[in-house]
Amino acid sequence: MIQLYIPLNFLGVLYREIKQSLADMEKLFNLMDQNKEIADKEQAPALALADHASPDVVFQRVNFSYEEKRQILFDVDFKIVAGTTTAVVGHSGSGKSTLSRLLFRFYDIQSGAIQIAGQNIMDITQHSLRQAIGIVPQDTVLFNDTIGYNIAYGKPGATQEDVIEVAKAAYIHDFIQSLPDGYDTMVGERGLKLSGGEKQRVAIARTLLKNPAIMIFDEATSALDSKSEQMIQAQLKQIAKSRTSLVIAHRLSTIVDAQQILVMDKGRIIERGTHLELMALAGAYAQMWERQQHNNAVTSELDVIEAAH
Ligand code: ATP
Repeated sequence: MIQLYIPLNFLGVLYREIKQSLADMEKLFNLMDQNKEIADKEQAPALALADHASPDVVFQRVNFSYEEKRQILFDVDFKIVAGTTTAVVGHSGSGKSTLSRLLFRFYDIQSGAIQIAGQNIMDITQHSLRQAIGIVPQDTVLFNDTIGYNIAYGKPGATQEDVIEVAKAAYIHDFIQSLPDGYDTMVGERGLKLSGGEKQRVAIARTLLKNPAIMIFDEATSALDSKSEQMIQAQLKQIAKSRTSLVIAHRLSTIVDAQQILVMDKGRIIERGTHLELMALAGAYAQMWERQQHNNAVTSELDVIEAAH
């Protein structure tokens, strides 16, 4: 009994950690079966999506708490129109990542509804839900295998041509080509260590291969130089193209083109609109924007001083 208990308990801990970090949720389908908190309804149908059509995603007056005594989301209500990008910004702890965890149905909400193409995510199978969503997490955990395998994982049966095509779209092909073993280079803990940005590009390539109807992009928090930032912007455009996308953003400059920006504060949406609309509002978003512009200016000045030495 004890022997059995330990591994199961370990899986439980691991599962909770993964839920928390949003890292590589997709590769843990098997592990998810261990999760008894979330269950499919009996005879639940699969999510029905029209061929090649991106669905609407709707959060309808969602209230949520992880623990009984502390409510995290209050009446969160928004719609991501099919094929468009909604970005979420706000202070640390305001509830941004919680939205993506809920869309993936890692937790059930206390009241309200989350719908995809008009179907409540609690009424469809978790498998079909997660098949429809691609996630680019902040921290991608790579398999101890080749870089090619790590990309191909996005789609069982992918050919080498498929892999190369998405690697090019994710701007990582040239880097891979420059490695002595190319796509056969071993990565992960026991192989080549990739930088955070490189790992994220592998995740982007994998997601492009999966070609999901819905995409969640959890932008890394680490500071980036402006060249890398432009690269992320280009990549975002690439994966969000005609896909329903939810972007958890830390750098406002990466989401100026989003069709909708939600500003969260302490679990509530306090402002919403396009970049221009929110700037005109001269509220919380405009303040965040000014602050980031100021910080960028200081950073650029430091770069210039550094370069001069
Ligand atoms: P960041 O920008 O730092 O990633 P965030 O806006 O994404 O923050 P969330 O991760 O959504 O914030 O967290 C919202 C709140 O929920 C925080 O106060 C956090 O402490 C709390 N929280 C997150 N995960 C759990 C959990 N598993 N159990 C209890 N509380 C949690």
